[in-house]
Amino acid sequence: MSNSSTFQEIGAWLDQYDSFALLSHVRPDGDAIGSQIALGFALEAAGKKVRLINEDGLPDNLTFMAGSDRIETPPSAPIDVDVVIALDTATKPRLGDNVLAAVGHCERWINIDHHKSNPGYGNLNHIDDTSPATGQILYNLINALDLPMPDETRDAIYVAVSTDTGSFQYSGTTVATYEMAADLTRKGLDVGKINSLTYDNHPMRRVELMRALLNTLEVQPDGRLAHWELTWDTVTRLEVKPEDSEGLIDIIRAIQGVIVAVFFEELHDGKIRVSMRSKDRRIDACKVCMEFGGGGHALAAGIRMPGPLSDAKAKVLAVIEREMASL
Ligand code: 5GP
Ligand code: MN
Repeated sequence: MSNSSTFQEIGAWLDQYDSFALLSHVRPDGDAIGSQIALGFALEAAGKKVRLINEDGLPDNLTFMAGSDRIETPPSAPIDVDVVIALDTATKPRLGDNVLAAVGHCERWINIDHHKSNPGYGNLNHIDDTSPATGQILYNLINALDLPMPDETRDAIYVAVSTDTGSFQYSGTTVATYEMAADLTRKGLDVGKINSLTYDNHPMRRVELMRALLNTLEVQPDGRLAHWELTWDTVTRLEVKPEDSEGLIDIIRAIQGVIVAVFFEELHDGKIRVSMRSKDRRIDACKVCMEFGGGGHALAAGIRMPGPLSDAKAKVLAVIEREMASL
């Protein structure tokens, strides 16, 4: 763990101040939205004023989460809150331009995250890269501070951790993770129902997207590097939404012999979003992505970089091949 304020130091601010804006990263996933709901409802139950703000708002695939209707896009005029809390967000710019315009002037920032590339941009920073999800850090924080755990918080923590661990599969999943899941279940969480809503509930659009992606799949001759791409043309033709591609990279990561999987996606502004997975700790995806201004974790990382698509692909694949040459 690096760069850490204690739960007690964070707790003192939560106790002392009254109004909070809870933020998470652009193109939010289950851990981002789940973390906002989890801490937001705990603070509200403790009598605090809370707003849950995300640059891109609530994605359709997470509308099933209790409390998700509280997620709002940034207000157009700056707002005053006592404390801003950034959750699950590795760098300040990943909060989004409109979010920063709305709360950037606020004086007190708490930064709670599990990305090792997080530089600690808050006044209080709790960065624990041994935690598989920000939701698990919040579970520990809520327990350590004896904050209330309403049902929304309980369920949101589970969804946050479940989605960030690939349903409790990835190597970051620890004894503490399973014990946490057991405790949440003991507290009344409906495991079958919440998993079904999380995983068996995809729009047909997502399957069409999968078909299109498979048509672009390329695997290096040695079988160790697999990648596929999504052009803006395909995005418009299939009316793809950002959340539709969530987790699809696992399909090519799962190919036998593949060590690194990469997903290249053209964005509306011509920028390229790169999503990277490694199955071997000797190939550090976060390190590769940081060469291009991105970041994340050793086995799962990402970049937003300039296009065009063919240039971005060539540059990123070259660095991965350089890293793999030493294996
Ligand atoms: P995903 O591929 O699922 O979008 O992201 C994998 C991991 O990399 C996540 O933990 C995410 O926060 C991080 N990540 C993805 N894109 C970026 C990026 O553009 N910049 C940084 N710093 N991290 C990213
Ligand atoms: Mn996360």
